[in-house]
Amino acid sequence: MRKPQAPLVQQRLSCSWSVVQGESDRVDVFTPAKRSVVMSHIRSGDTRPELFVRKLIFAAGFRYRLHDGRLPGKPDIVLPKYHAVIFVNGCFWHHHEGCRLAARPATRPDFWERKLAGNKRRDEDNIRALLSAGWRVLVIWECACLKRFSADLSSRVCRFLREQDVPRAEIGRNDLESGAHGHHLT
Ligand SMILES: [Zn+2]
Repeated sequence: MRKPQAPLVQQRLSCSWSVVQGESDRVDVFTPAKRSVVMSHIRSGDTRPELFVRKLIFAAGFRYRLHDGRLPGKPDIVLPKYHAVIFVNGCFWHHHEGCRLAARPATRPDFWERKLAGNKRRDEDNIRALLSAGWRVLVIWECACLKRFSADLSSRVCRFLREQDVPRAEIGRNDLESGAHGHHLT
């Protein structure tokens, strides 16, 4: 059951609180074509990988704010106390390099090349802006958001949050225990 979405109240950055929205899974009611149109307009919602990450870090004791529209790229999770933001990125839409979930559709290659390269560029611009504003940035890829990686993912996220001298990191399936399948990132 999905509760009606309350408008996100603008909060001061210094406040420490968390928003708990309807944690239900989103049912996909769109055809692929329609979904691509919809997804191109929505940077982030309460996607399943995002809920997965939120639950992990909540269980680890971290408290956060969600989808802060005042920050570049509207980060999915914001942890002011740790000067950190987390993006939980879909591997296809944000083009996770070397990831099999990022495979391009066979049709309209030029369209997809332009579209996905544009998404990637925008992500990179947002990350740079966040870094130069003093935020630390963690990208967690959708492919890492599987139950069997929970323990490893959780400990890596916790390490990033606590190691305040690391400005930027990303975690994909290949970075996690038993997740390796060839190509390794960074
Ligand atoms: Zn991936």
